[in-house]
Amino acid sequence: MRMIFIGPPGAGKGTQAARLVDRYAIPHISTGDMFRAAVKNGTPLGKKAAEYMNAGKLVPDEVTIGLVRERIAQDDAKEGFLLDGFPRTVPQAEALKEALAADGVSLDAVLLLEVDDQLIVDRIVGRRSDPETGTIYHLQFNPPPAEIMDRLVHRKDDTEEACRARLDAYHAQTAPLVPFYDAEGLLKRVDGVGKPDQVTERIVAALA
Ligand code: ADP
Ligand code: ADP
Repeated sequence: MRMIFIGPPGAGKGTQAARLVDRYAIPHISTGDMFRAAVKNGTPLGKKAAEYMNAGKLVPDEVTIGLVRERIAQDDAKEGFLLDGFPRTVPQAEALKEALAADGVSLDAVLLLEVDDQLIVDRIVGRRSDPETGTIYHLQFNPPPAEIMDRLVHRKDDTEEACRARLDAYHAQTAPLVPFYDAEGLLKRVDGVGKPDQVTERIVAALA
């Protein structure tokens, strides 16, 4: 199964991806997580990406496409993957299509997780993650246990200001992927509002 997730920042892609990869036994490939790891490790890639990320802007296509091509060529992604946060522009989608075609394979589904902008800011500003387990929490909607509060991470770009910039980038650069994949017959729209379990059920139904 080769799937991709599209949706605005904070739509719940990471939360749902963690559940789907167990169910479908495929690796979860998040370009956001890959860039954050590069920033943390101070690699040349991380240095390049950090300024864009902190401003809520997209990292340039040529950097991002190279990173994903290398990642999906690895052994664990040969039979399938769930790409989360890539592609985010039409040139990225075209590059992915070419890379897969060169291997004689193609995408099976594109999941669009729909959440209105007014709900997004609350989801983003309250997001916290556990660096030890990777679990994504929300201060109100999925409260973390008190004993791990001290180690939780609040992303630098999870401020209201950066969130608004990311929403603008989503509408300008990523939303054109919706007609792109609709035209290919791959798009599955899923309502991302409701309890995470309900959203998972909707996704599984859309994929069935
Ligand atoms: P969210 O899901 O909250 O929008 P991500 O963790 O997917 O955030 O991405 C964080 C940041 O990493 C983005 O704002 C952007 O700067 C960068 N990034 C991630 N994926 C891509 C991509 N496919 N193209 C360009 N930039 C990306
Ligand atoms: P994305 O990967 O699309 O940026 P996340 O999965 O990180 O989104 O979710 C963003 C925030 O919203 C997190 O704090 C998460 O706990 C919370 N969240 C995820 N799904 C839901 C949901 N169905 N209802 C309410 N909050 C949610």
